[in-house]
Amino acid sequence: YFHSKFVYVASAKSKESFIPEKLPEVAFIGRSNVGKSSIINAITQRGQAKTSDKPGFTQSINWYELGSTLYIVDLPGYGFAFAKSQKVDQWNQLTLEYLTTRKSLKRVFLLLDARHGLKESDHEILEILDKEHVKTQIVLTKGDLVEQKEIAKRFTLVTEELKKYHHTQLPVISVSSKTFGGIPELASLIKGFKLR
Ligand code: GDP
Repeated sequence: YFHSKFVYVASAKSKESFIPEKLPEVAFIGRSNVGKSSIINAITQRGQAKTSDKPGFTQSINWYELGSTLYIVDLPGYGFAFAKSQKVDQWNQLTLEYLTTRKSLKRVFLLLDARHGLKESDHEILEILDKEHVKTQIVLTKGDLVEQKEIAKRFTLVTEELKKYHHTQLPVISVSSKTFGGIPELASLIKGFKLR
């Protein structure tokens, strides 16, 4: 999908280790197990799954660079509760810090399992992103596990639910990392953010 390959650049576990804002970047976020690693692998053609990405474990923000034109940023997955959890975990704080202060961040792709749609934790994050005017686009994952008719229903429902978020970018898109359906389209969209 890209003429050059994405290469791993850096990880950050604190704000101090965020890399300089040298290139435009797009970030991926979603609940644990939503299929984030699989999508990033599909797009970057890394072909190798990352280590387990479960809440409660130490998390980091990871940057991948496409030949001096673009960064793809892998953000920690989140669990059932996000900001409203009694104790906002350190990685949640780091993720929020990144999402709300990063000027070179051109778009956030928020992933939703096509079977489940928007959960409370997704709404919590969308509220924060919307308040901070962060341009966010919804990607439905694991499209191969849902019948075409069900996907259409999910699109309609999610699009309706997103109306209250003014900074959410439509359309909702759908992908499958298994069949690669929608992956070339997502890659084209990402290409649009490249530094020329
Ligand atoms: P992450 O925790 O969000 O990074 O999710 P992973 O990419 O590790 O995927 C979680 C699980 O869902 C794994 O068992 C994957 O094999 C599976 N999975 C991910 N994407 C797809 C997909 O598009 N279709 C199907 N059928 N399974 C998927």
